Amino acid sequence: RETESRNFIEQIIDNDIKEGHCQEVHTRFPPEPNGYLHIGHAKSILLNSGIAKQYGGKFNLRFDDTNPTKEKIEFVESIKEDVKWLGADWEDRLFFASDYFDQMYEAAVKLIKKGKAYVSDLSAEEIREYRGTLTETGKEDPSANRSVEENLQLFEEMKAGKYQDGAKVLRARIDMSSPNINMRDPVIYRVAHMTHHNTGDKWCIYPMYDFAHPIEDAIEGITHSLCTLEFEDHRPLYDWVVREVGYEHPPKQIEFAKLYLTNVVTGKRYIKRLVEEHIVDGWDDPRLVSIAALRRRGFTPESIKKFVELCGISKSNSSVDYAMLEYCIREDLKLKRSRAMAVLDPIKVVIDNYPEGQVEELTIVNNMENEALGSHTVPFCRELYIDREDFMEEPPKKYFRMYPGNEVRLMQAYFVTCNSYIKDEDGKVTEIHCTYDPASKGGNSPDGRKVKGTIHWVPAPYAKKAEIRLYENIVDEELGVYNEDGSLNLNPNSLTVLENCYVEPFAADAKAYDSFQFVRQGYFCVDAKDTTDEKLVFNRIVSLKSSYKL
Ligand code: ATP
Ligand code: MG
Ligand code: MG
Repeated sequence: RETESRNFIEQIIDNDIKEGHCQEVHTRFPPEPNGYLHIGHAKSILLNSGIAKQYGGKFNLRFDDTNPTKEKIEFVESIKEDVKWLGADWEDRLFFASDYFDQMYEAAVKLIKKGKAYVSDLSAEEIREYRGTLTETGKEDPSANRSVEENLQLFEEMKAGKYQDGAKVLRARIDMSSPNINMRDPVIYRVAHMTHHNTGDKWCIYPMYDFAHPIEDAIEGITHSLCTLEFEDHRPLYDWVVREVGYEHPPKQIEFAKLYLTNVVTGKRYIKRLVEEHIVDGWDDPRLVSIAALRRRGFTPESIKKFVELCGISKSNSSVDYAMLEYCIREDLKLKRSRAMAVLDPIKVVIDNYPEGQVEELTIVNNMENEALGSHTVPFCRELYIDREDFMEEPPKKYFRMYPGNEVRLMQAYFVTCNSYIKDEDGKVTEIHCTYDPASKGGNSPDGRKVKGTIHWVPAPYAKKAEIRLYENIVDEELGVYNEDGSLNLNPNSLTVLENCYVEPFAADAKAYDSFQFVRQGYFCVDAKDTTDEKLVFNRIVSLKSSYKL
């Protein structure tokens, strides 16, 4: 392929292959099991697994579980489920960084023996102070000149549990006057008396991320270690660790820009609070953009893949609109899903001249643009429901739907004319009476009479009751996501629950994650969490109209 159509990562890899630096491409996705994955992680997952696939290489799923404080086993399972759902196949290459603790310890000992690491007595705060700033160079650690023997013994004692948390650390000996602060003798091991979910109480010292990560990559034979931009100035340290520990085939770190969505809350801290305050229904609330939430809302892996591709891979941070994600799901479902009729706010319609007890089976083509999806039938009878917004007592100009004296088309059925209606004591319309034209079956009249409005309907005795949930952004976009005190500006209308909806029988037996286009309303997906044998719940994935233009 031509160079211009290759993103910068592919260009680097092409070149590495050409120059013989690598034979088989090997990538990994290395999540910390400390939370649910979100749409940003999907970019990393699809990028890493996509690159491996494209080059006929390998892709690892590796849990970066070197920090026992924040990690939870429940997240391991949810992450596996999400990565699998996205279609990234790690086959038998599932790894845990904690399985390498012995090798990491050995690597640290090796550095000590080379005079490249020392045990420090400084506190975390002192280390920060000694490290200096961008404008002033760092100060030598008073422990920096300990002998190799002494360092080996102290490190052994750290491991044996002789010291309290924070009393001693192991630092790499690099350069206290480096312009890159990450290179000023970074801490590579710390004491932490904590139980690890995998290794239990075997260790009371744990490696720091910047030391552990390059070792994990090197052990697994990763050739290209793709990470986000904030690690760019950690790369010299990454390379230093790989070189000093002495790996024969050094992995190469390449940084790319994170995926940000405008006006969308992704911060773990905020989502945790929304969950704890019951403002959202868990981490998979359909208003959130965790992978689990997107799945529950009805997004497909293909739509997320398309979205990530549209966003592209670059070196500069930018933010994209949620509308683009909506565009991608509409595009994906357009040819894949069947149409069905659903009434969100029902009013009963009685067709006075339709014989009582008579039922006809009418045919609905499932997808006008995809014949392969076939068709289904819907019963038509004397009593129907239509949507409240399709009827007006006194219509304004250009209202072509149902009103007294007006003739409209019932979708795929007949022309009907409204003759009268009944209201309850609050003035709410409860029943509409119509007559139908038997000659207009299928929605056209042999005399060529035109009607302007076409409305959807469901047969009252056969329709199934359902709850339908409509969503908006959880934050108020007009006011901005955050208040000055750091709290969120919540949109009070982010969730609308319609409890009294009806769907035609075709959608009545839908199972979790099944989705439909409800004509004129949008795409809807069966909610996997709240749907039961007794209660059918649909989430609106996205409406039909878009303001987004590609
Ligand atoms: P968060 O704090 O949002 O959960 P993280 O960086 O702590 O993100 P990790 O579990 O460390 O999450 O991330 C695993 C991988 O996903 C890393 O390689 C990281 O660079 C990548 N990643 C995280 N957020 C994004 C994002 N918004 N866009 C692209 N890649 C991301
Ligand atoms: Mg994370
Ligand atoms: Mg992280």
